[in-house]
Amino acid sequence: MTKEKATEYMNVGFENIVKGIGELGYDINDDNFKGTDERAARGFLQMVLPKKEVEAGIDAMLKKTFPAKYKEMVISKHNVAFGVCPHHLLPVVYRISMAYIPKDKVLGLSKLSRLAKLLARGPVLQEDLTHDLCDILHQRLGTEGAAVYVQGLHMCMAARGIGAHEARLVTNCVTGIFLDNMATRQEFIKLVTDNHPTLV
Ligand SMILES: [Zn+2]
Repeated sequence: MTKEKATEYMNVGFENIVKGIGELGYDINDDNFKGTDERAARGFLQMVLPKKEVEAGIDAMLKKTFPAKYKEMVISKHNVAFGVCPHHLLPVVYRISMAYIPKDKVLGLSKLSRLAKLLARGPVLQEDLTHDLCDILHQRLGTEGAAVYVQGLHMCMAARGIGAHEARLVTNCVTGIFLDNMATRQEFIKLVTDNHPTLV
């Protein structure tokens, strides 16, 4: 399991995809197709990071915490992240909002955003991404509860098949206080679904 081997496999894969495009009647000897196989493989490898790299990134982020001064909801909303779906290997654009109620430590705010972006960069199911992120914030960070709300624009739905380009897949996960306390859960849902104008 190495990145070199993965690159090798993907180069061959995209080389065949380009040949397939040629079979569809397109001129793959055109200059625009020069190096497309390797470029596409490099692009794909930015969408799907090595699992070990993702895990190491999560560990590193969870190591840098600060003492919690307050027990107020910490929220980071509308983070844009990218990945691919495991069923079609087509891109997915996510808008991820998450929150937690601290116990004794908090993560730096930019870390929340980075955590979501990092977890999305794999061939993961949106439901799993949502639950994994929620588990990390609740169990591994050690909080009173966490909530995650994810909207996904799936190219497999938008650009092919049923062509539902307006459809967004919505998943959410709540744990701890968010599960037990309806008011806290509703506050979170309201904060992430309200269409407030952005500051900048
Ligand atoms: Zn799909």
